[in-house]
This record gives sequence, C-alpha cells and structure tokens, in this order.
Amino acid sequence: MEEKREQSDISALLLKWYDMHKRDLPWRESNDPYRVWLSEVILQQTRVAQGWSYYLRFVDKFPNVQSLADADEQEVLKLWQGLGYYSRARNLHAAAKQVIDLFHGRFPDDYASILSLKGVGTYTAAAVSSIAFNAPYAVVDGNVFRVISRLFAVENPIDTTAGKKIITEIAQSLLSLDQPGTYNQAIMDFGSLVCTPTQPRCMECPLQNRCQSFLENRADHFPVTSRKVSVRKRYFHYFHIDHANHTYIQKRKESDIWKNLYEFPLIETAAPMDFLELSQTKAFRDLFPTSAHLSVDHCLNVKHQLTHQLIYTVFYRVIIGEDSEFIPPEGLLTIERENLSHYPVSRLTDKYMEII
Ligand code: SF4
Repeated sequence: MEEKREQSDISALLLKWYDMHKRDLPWRESNDPYRVWLSEVILQQTRVAQGWSYYLRFVDKFPNVQSLADADEQEVLKLWQGLGYYSRARNLHAAAKQVIDLFHGRFPDDYASILSLKGVGTYTAAAVSSIAFNAPYAVVDGNVFRVISRLFAVENPIDTTAGKKIITEIAQSLLSLDQPGTYNQAIMDFGSLVCTPTQPRCMECPLQNRCQSFLENRADHFPVTSRKVSVRKRYFHYFHIDHANHTYIQKRKESDIWKNLYEFPLIETAAPMDFLELSQTKAFRDLFPTSAHLSVDHCLNVKHQLTHQLIYTVFYRVIIGEDSEFIPPEGLLTIERENLSHYPVSRLTDKYMEII
C-alpha cells in the first residue's frame, strides 16, 4: 500500500515537472499516430536537435502514411541522408506499405498490431500506443533505465536480463494510467534534462526526497552495468590534530580526486597499514617530527566508494598537549577548531565530521 502510494507520488511529481518544463518539440503538436511513429523512428540513435529538421522535412514531403507508402524507396533514403542507420529508413518505408496493405491504410491503434510493423520494437510500440491512443504501456529507453535505476538504487546491471526485467516492471508500475502518453514523455524528458547521464541535477530535482541513490549519496554509482570497471583501491590515513584549540588542514592540489577541496593532513599508503607501522614511515615523521607529546584519542575506519576508486580510510584523532610545540609542515593551514566547517571538504571528510 505504502509502496503504491510512493509510486503514484513519483508519477504525479514527474507529470507536474513535465507540465512546467516540457520541451516545445514539433512532433508534440499532434497525437497523430503516423507523426508520433515517424518522430520516434527518427529519434532513435539521433539527438533531438538533429532529428528536428529531418522530422519537419519528412512530414512536409510525406504528410501521411499513404504518401510515404507511395514513395519510391530511393526518395525516402535520400531524405534520410545524413541520419545514419539506413535500415531505419527502409523499415519505415516497408512499415508504411504494411499499414496500407494489412490495416487498410489506417494506422493500427493497438499495441500488438503496432509491434507487428517492420522495424518497430517494444519501445516504439509503447511510445506510439501510449502517446497516440492512451494505451497503458510504459516506455523503457536509456533515459528510463537511468532514472529508475537511480530512483530505486537498482544494483542489478541494466544490461542483464534480470536488470532489464526489474526496471521494466518498475517502469510499468510507475506509469500513470490516466495519462500514459504524457507520463512516458515526462520521464524521458526528465532523464534528458534533469537526471542526466553525467552530473545529474539532483539539487533541483523534484524527486530528490524519493530518490534512494540520492539519499545514499550514490547517484553516480547508477545505472550499474555488467561491464567490468576496474576499481582502484587506495589507503588513506587522515590526522585530525587537536592542538591548543587549533587544527590543521590542507588544500588538495594535484590533478586527483577532490581538487581544491580541503582535508586533514593525509598519508596515503600503497597497502593497508596499522598505526605502529605507519608511525615508522618517513611521511609520518615529516608530519610529526617530535611525537613524544602526541596521543591518539581515537580512530575511525571509513570505506568510501567512488565510481572507479574504493578508498579505505582511517581518521586518527591526534591530541597534542597545549604546552607542546607543533610546527605544521609547509602547506598545512592552521585554523581554529570551530572553523573547520567553513571549508569545503569531500563527502568522505564530511561523513567523518558528521560522526565526531
Ligand atoms: Fe536523478 Fe538526482 Fe533526481 Fe535522483 S535526485 S532522480 S539521481 S536527478
């Protein structure tokens, strides 16, 4: 029950977002199934900006399915020139003839008949039947895979049968039965404009509070694919030094992760290392030339996952007595303890600061 309500909330929010932000595209001016189908075929593997002019040329030359069926194949291919994937043009032409021969010139109005047309797969059949005839079929394209895998933090790779099945089922359960066509266009536009492949605009996303991957701060982890991605393991040892109401931070400068963010003094090692071992390294002695007056109050282990890196981190809280001298090595910034939160830090350091 709760789940059902959550899903209808998501659909309602998507429809509301679409109502305010939908793109003004020429094929949206009509629900004519021929035009919807034409636009869907043109837009496969084609960017909207490029498909736009082709669509206008096609409807100008072939304003209805009869005129397309009557055309010479050469003429269709010529008009298609530059769009690539020429089998799409040939199938388009063949399907127009099917409509004339098998459906008496009337574009079929049910999902199964639309699916039987040459070159039409489940995506196109769902798009045409929902947009032109309000049939309850959810579209599942790359945008939908991405949006749903992030919203529900689907760990199954989207290029596997199991992953596809899960996402298709969720897509169908989210579909607004009152406005399936509008809903399908809404989720696709949302994927193109907000929940984009890279750098999704989560901060302005109306689904933020319902998005599992956002709530877990893992939007960049989805969608998961089965292609093996090599993950680099790194071992970070951070020192949160407490000395006479001060602590020490540094700005990351290298062309590495988190450039220009601040962090505690860091020693990175090539393998896991306990404190005893670490305290004998040159890096540790450079940071703490005289370690007689320091004590480790506590340490915290945090595993942090980035897209291509897994960072095993230990945060050491190091106390240096007020009367003891500590000369920070070059590059470290001395700040008052309570000003720590004024500096931009990585999510990893932020997590630590939330806990302490
Ligand atoms: Fe996509 Fe971010 Fe919105 Fe989640 S919060 S649906 S990841 S844009």
